[in-house]
Amino acid sequence: MSGYVGKLLRVDLTTGRMTTEPIPAAVIRDYLGGRGLGAFLLFTEVPAGADPLGPENKVFFSTGPLSGTLFPGACKMDVAAKSPLNSGYGSSSIGGKLAAELKFAGFDAIVVEGMSREPVYLLVQDDHVELRDAGHLWGRGAMTTEQMLKEELGEEMQIATIGPAGENLVRYACIHHDVGRQAGRCGIGAVMGSKRLKAIAVYGTGSVSVADPAAFLEVSRQAFQAVKSAETHEQWVREGTTKTTEWVNGTGTLPTYNFQAGAFEQAPSLYADVARSYVVSDKGCYCCPSPCGKYTYAPRYDLHIEGPDYETVGMLGPNVGLDDWQALVKANWLCDELGLDTISAGATISWAMECQAKGLLDASLTDGLDLSWGSAEAIWTLLERIGHRDGWLGNLLAEGSKRAAEELGQGSIAWAIQHKGMEQSAYETHSATAMLLSYMTCDIGGHHGRAWAIWNDISMGRDKVSPEKVDKVIELQHIRPLFDCLGCCRFLWVELRLSFDQYVAALQAVTGVKRSYEDLMHISERAWNLTRLYWMREIPEFGAAFDAPPPRFVSEPATYGPTAGVFTPRASMEIMLADYYQKRGWDANGLPTHQTLDRLGLLELSPWR
Ligand code: SF4
Repeated sequence: MSGYVGKLLRVDLTTGRMTTEPIPAAVIRDYLGGRGLGAFLLFTEVPAGADPLGPENKVFFSTGPLSGTLFPGACKMDVAAKSPLNSGYGSSSIGGKLAAELKFAGFDAIVVEGMSREPVYLLVQDDHVELRDAGHLWGRGAMTTEQMLKEELGEEMQIATIGPAGENLVRYACIHHDVGRQAGRCGIGAVMGSKRLKAIAVYGTGSVSVADPAAFLEVSRQAFQAVKSAETHEQWVREGTTKTTEWVNGTGTLPTYNFQAGAFEQAPSLYADVARSYVVSDKGCYCCPSPCGKYTYAPRYDLHIEGPDYETVGMLGPNVGLDDWQALVKANWLCDELGLDTISAGATISWAMECQAKGLLDASLTDGLDLSWGSAEAIWTLLERIGHRDGWLGNLLAEGSKRAAEELGQGSIAWAIQHKGMEQSAYETHSATAMLLSYMTCDIGGHHGRAWAIWNDISMGRDKVSPEKVDKVIELQHIRPLFDCLGCCRFLWVELRLSFDQYVAALQAVTGVKRSYEDLMHISERAWNLTRLYWMREIPEFGAAFDAPPPRFVSEPATYGPTAGVFTPRASMEIMLADYYQKRGWDANGLPTHQTLDRLGLLELSPWR
């Protein structure tokens, strides 16, 4: 089918064998590509109960049908694996130029399996594929490795690499690409590290087949014009996601001091105008007319990075009490070079800071490190220790906040702000019932990407418990992941107001197959339920208890800002969760019913049919 190459590259690191395989047309039909394809392959190929850091786990790099085309923002790839952070479904989206390059090289996906005895990197150059020694790269930072491989192989190579955190199996290690793009969440960098796969390098000279080039060019041209003429375009390109910081601080949804408060007195020193004053240039992904990447220089430390984006600002800024932009840039640089997810890293450090503030981590346990809120020195030192699993504390925090709290005990689990073992991203939810429901039910854990419902809380009444909010969360959980199936950046839809009809038209022009918005939503719902089945298969006791909110938001009032003194009654979230299950066609324990699986064509894959 046009839009797809129709084949994947399978790399067995144990044997060194590499093969190409067709991707069955039925899989493309039912799962579209990208995230859908990755979820299907993970479910069907990785055996139940596999050790996330063992040879049975696999890493799936999957593009979508629009990846690598000329549609605006057609740059995305999904990276899936069993997550070492929580042993559940792991998936993370990555932009830059990797997805397009893989299509140009002649593959829709790469499946990496087994485990190499020595460090290697994978070279894909059209149909030439090769595993090469990576001994000289092992131990190097992720950005350094990318640079070294570009010098070795050529600037046009697209590189995805891990840093020391991935090598050291830090459970929230990320995969780095294109200076500042990451597959950040779920610890898939550690899965690569466990396989001793330091990097993949891809270059291709082909192109993506398009069924109706004239129609496709026209819909793409219109989409480019719509994005460029959007009212929000200028601000988006100037500020990128840092435009969010002021808004969340004003609404009391900026995570502060480990989510104890929703606003930060010193937040203005981290606002977009401050960020912009350090920007050297704007930087975009493949085929993006609205570059949100900000290439930044911090003169005090002589450091260049791409970022910080809003999530990094929230989690390594107010949430750890830091109010110094250049110090934040250095923390971001350390995460990028070590190969750490900035969200989980910030959340785990903020948990440690709260533990020290409450007397659980004295100087004997921190090797004398003072973990006071806002200490840049403490944040940088902890990032280094985590990335290298240095000492007792570095090792503890490398496990993520939930495991660390279980180890430390003394009630500290109540301060680990996580869902299904993955740290909540940068929206404070003491009074934001839709966003809290979105986090509670997110298929990978505490991530905002599936349903950014905070806006609906503000517009619909933030502590309101309403069926409309539940409907909105479900709708968002279907529509937003669809972009990850298509291989496109959703920001152009969210921020630049590109109509979804244009994606429907582009998909038809590329593939030659007519699919309605409803058809696509059905595919997304199928993928959502498949990931639910994955959790059920991997964790026999999985059920509603795994969708419970962190106690902080339902029992402790926020301490500062517009929501000071407020928390959401636990009963409110129980009502919304029950409504959510019912609307999804799941039973009272949150498990898809036989009828739901049948409706979605998933019965065959269900171990409980
Ligand atoms: Fe990449 Fe940002 Fe453009 Fe999206 S909006 S494609 S993340 S540069």
